[in-house]
Amino acid sequence: MEDQTIAFIGLGNMGGAMSSNLVKAGYKVTGYDPAQGARAQAEANGVALADSAVEAVAGADIILTMLPDASFVRDVWAEILPHAKKGALIADSSTIDVMSAREIHQMAAQAGLQSVDAPVSGGVAGAQAAKLTFMLGGSEEALARIEPVLAVMGQKSVRCGEAGSGQAAKICNNMILGVNIVAVSEAFALAEKLGLSAQAMFDVASGSTGQCWALTSYCPVPGIVPTAPSNNDYKPGAAATMLLKDLRLAQEAAGSVSANTPLGTHVTEIYEKFVEAGFGGEDFSAIIKSLR
Ligand code: NAD
Repeated sequence: MEDQTIAFIGLGNMGGAMSSNLVKAGYKVTGYDPAQGARAQAEANGVALADSAVEAVAGADIILTMLPDASFVRDVWAEILPHAKKGALIADSSTIDVMSAREIHQMAAQAGLQSVDAPVSGGVAGAQAAKLTFMLGGSEEALARIEPVLAVMGQKSVRCGEAGSGQAAKICNNMILGVNIVAVSEAFALAEKLGLSAQAMFDVASGSTGQCWALTSYCPVPGIVPTAPSNNDYKPGAAATMLLKDLRLAQEAAGSVSANTPLGTHVTEIYEKFVEAGFGGEDFSAIIKSLR
């Protein structure tokens, strides 16, 4: 229903591209971000700029937030919820911890609004190409309401369950990714030392039991998968700091429910060292450099 009006709060790398796709689909989008660069780009993309988050949500049917972390999300939701239109729906696509996600759902319920946690995978390239995957948590009614809007920004939405389930799915998925990219990197580093060519290693593993996305779409050795960041001097892609953020969230969640995640713990430590060594701005597949 393109006659719905949308408020988009947080117009950074992800939010900028996502809001632009909403405009292209014919939605009237009002946005807010304090950063001048983000504002200018969003305006060029056809987003109407507001001077504050409160001003942006005035009259909006759907409110979307895409912010750096949980503390930003909590603060912004606390600020805007009292000013949202009666019957509006609010969704957050930032990656945040499960407890904070549940907390903001409660804040929305207290303000009389339906809410959804809708974190994404697909990165900036996915956001630009409208090929994100959304992982959704919330009531069936709220999810049904938000899905047509999300369909404009992504290729798939998965209903994960009640409040916070989208964030739970997101961090569990990224824990798999972290473990897999390190496993693939270790295997290539070992193969190299054993005199096996990277191409032979790839040809075997990609059609065999070692097959996984980290290998076939994101091969950390250059010259094999053309679109992988390894072929672009490990420019992100997704920065190592970003994966570390998600790995830490997974560890926090595991601690809160006493889940046993030894590999998740180890991979988090590996990325902590990598980021401390100054490689945080490189794509996370650059981890192979530290394993060679
Ligand atoms: P970003 O830093 O580019 O964008 C965040 C934006 O929020 C910035 O432009 C910042 O100015 C703005 N902001 C800060 N305070 C604000 C406020 N009070 N009101 C409005 N805007 C405010 O980050 P990003 O890469 O767009 O990521 C956003 C979220 O998406 C993060 O939670 C991240 O973990 C998640 N995510 C990112 C990627 C990725 O590849 N970049 C992939 C999946 C998920």
